Amino acid sequence: MVERLLVLGGDPAGVAAATTVRRLRGDVEIVVAESGNHTDWAGEGVPQLVGGLVDGLERLSGLRPSDLRDRLRIDIRCGHSASGIDLLNREVEIDDDEHERTYRLRFDRLLLAGWGRTPVPATLADAPVIDPSRPEDALALTMGLAGGARHAVVVGAGLPGLELAEALAQRGVRVTIVDPAAHLLDDFDADLVKPVSRALEQQGIGVQVSAEIRGWEEGRVATDRGLLPEGLVVAGAYPMPANQVAGDAGVVLGPTGGAVVDARFRTSAEGVWAVGRAAEVRHRLSSAPLVAGAGLVAGHGQAAGTEIAGGYQRVPWPLDLQAGRVGGYDVARVGLTAGQAEGAGYEVRTSTVAGSARAAWYPGARPLQVRLVAERGSGLILGVQAVGVEGAVRAAETVTLAIDQQVDVGSLARLETPGDPALGARPDPLRAAAIELATT
Ligand SMILES: Cc1cc2nc3c(=O)[nH]c(=O)nc-3n(C[C@H](O)[C@H](O)[C@H](O)COP(=O)(O)OP(=O)(O)OC[C@H]3O[C@@H](n4cnc5c(N)ncnc54)[C@H](O)[C@@H]3O)c2cc1C
Repeated sequence: MVERLLVLGGDPAGVAAATTVRRLRGDVEIVVAESGNHTDWAGEGVPQLVGGLVDGLERLSGLRPSDLRDRLRIDIRCGHSASGIDLLNREVEIDDDEHERTYRLRFDRLLLAGWGRTPVPATLADAPVIDPSRPEDALALTMGLAGGARHAVVVGAGLPGLELAEALAQRGVRVTIVDPAAHLLDDFDADLVKPVSRALEQQGIGVQVSAEIRGWEEGRVATDRGLLPEGLVVAGAYPMPANQVAGDAGVVLGPTGGAVVDARFRTSAEGVWAVGRAAEVRHRLSSAPLVAGAGLVAGHGQAAGTEIAGGYQRVPWPLDLQAGRVGGYDVARVGLTAGQAEGAGYEVRTSTVAGSARAAWYPGARPLQVRLVAERGSGLILGVQAVGVEGAVRAAETVTLAIDQQVDVGSLARLETPGDPALGARPDPLRAAAIELATT
């Protein structure tokens, strides 16, 4: 009998794994069951879709079902949702929506890939919340806009929520962001993200932080500050794992809800792997449970595919690089904030430098503020947060490599930088922060 790999979820992680297995093993039968109608779909592009920068849902897809079927001999089954896993008999129960039937499919190897859902507070369980990580909901959102929606409540003041809110505002919708967190972008230090807050206010976007979301009353979202206007309700957090089917089958899930995996993406169940929003990995520096971001899921899928095909590809655990563009600012972070580092047992030093990515005197130089965190004593770099009109993402990428290569502040301070004032200040805020930590 031909060996069969069954992949549950056909988004970037699952597709990367399936295509890698196909590249390495022409003899394996590969079936991908995908509950929706799109494959390799980049949910992180929905704000651009909503804002009108991208025209059409399909533009967010990399490999489409026809590519997988015709070019890669992958048996892609859209509209087929896994509803049960039988680990003992090595079978998955699959609901075929179109033909209104349920069938069982044998597997030799099983990959849980994706299954993300955007979380919303339990108090909004009865509300018609749009989950932009699902293509059909993203379509409903764009149709709501086409239908003349006038108000939207975005639940979540992290980067995805703010990007969605801004895109909706650009389409003429009055937006209120609500979040129980103490300040917006609460993965960042509050003082650093104040300019973003001000920029959103200037666009007329309402922000209710420290908000108690009380529920769904009279067709409107109720918070401790009253009823919000009627309109669209949009989930604005990062999608999180929704793996009940695997959990019910006995696969061990972690606190994020993802299937706990080892460095080879193996779950607790023999012959079952997990990647992307289905998997719980660990932060490389703090060991905190984490779900990989969009910048990593395809790489994780390739590594899992290599492993499933019988090889091995080492993948370091994530450093949690987050980046986005809101209110005219690039906002980026990687590694640990000082608070997170202390919570993980590090003794730290921080340096905060405000400047610009280009020479300060260069016409058009734009503000950039950077906060660098290093370990006291060793000087090893642990993380950075950067907010600026330009240069923030470059700072985060530089620090990603610095942490990966275990660079200390002295080495970062001495790194060669571009001499052209249009391209780099001497020193730029990141280098200036490293110099301060290396010399004081
Ligand atoms: C608005 C928005 C902004 C974002 N911004 C960022 C960002 O800035 N940075 C970042 O890192 N990430 C961001 N993300 C998250 C990013 O899009 C996800 O990390 C990425 O899509 C995860 O891909 P994945 O392959 O793990 O699967 P998922 O996207 O979780 O997809 C899972 C797939 O499984 C399918 N599925 C679910 N249940 C079943 C079932 N029972 N049977 C079969 N198939 C099933 C689903 O239909 C889906 O296609 C954002 C997401 C959104 C919505």
